[in-house]
Amino acid sequence: MRATPAALQIPELADEPGFVHGFSTLAVGSVGLKHAPDREPVMGARHAFAHALGLDGVELTTIGAVHGADVARVDEPGGSVDDVDALVTNRRGVAIFATFADCYPIALWDPEKRVGGLVHAGWRGTGAGVAPAAVLLMEREYGCAHIRAGIGPGICGRCYEVGPEVASQFDRRFVSKGAGDRLLLDLAAANRAQLEDAGVKAIYDIGMCTKESYLFPSHRRHPDGTRFGAIVALT
Ligand SMILES: [Zn+2]
Repeated sequence: MRATPAALQIPELADEPGFVHGFSTLAVGSVGLKHAPDREPVMGARHAFAHALGLDGVELTTIGAVHGADVARVDEPGGSVDDVDALVTNRRGVAIFATFADCYPIALWDPEKRVGGLVHAGWRGTGAGVAPAAVLLMEREYGCAHIRAGIGPGICGRCYEVGPEVASQFDRRFVSKGAGDRLLLDLAAANRAQLEDAGVKAIYDIGMCTKESYLFPSHRRHPDGTRFGAIVALT
């Protein structure tokens, strides 16, 4: 049996010189501090994740993730930006990091301007348009016009049951009928459509559902506070 990889990447964005991205698997353990009884194993998992991406010794800059659409630029490695759900940078040595357990990480990269970004998109952030907000900031701050986007692992449109109060905030093409009176929301499709509307021409999708894959933690499958991580770094 082959060992589980520590991190997975979106194939179409894996070979970009100067751009590193990835999603940690349960092979490294939980990278989420918030619900962790001990800090040490979490920091060990974060280091193992960074190591798997060839980013040994890098200082992560953490997205606080408050389920909104605020975005900021980062010019220095390290620290955390608590009140945003996306960060962008053009600085080599900056490694943007966020944690997930069903919400979608979206990696952004402009190979012409050499600008990267990472988005945390759950239903609230998607409803608020966090991915296009990050695209807009890359355009405004850096003059980006050739942004490529990669949608990472998240809960898929067959698994993500929501109530009518959530479903009603989304276009009907992203909502389908589930069991009984439940509705199913396709967050990946909603984000893809928002990115297309924002003018992003190249959009890739790792196509993995957190609830259906043993590689990633899923809040819906097992709400124990376990989180996987996403990193976008410029090197
Ligand atoms: Zn699924």
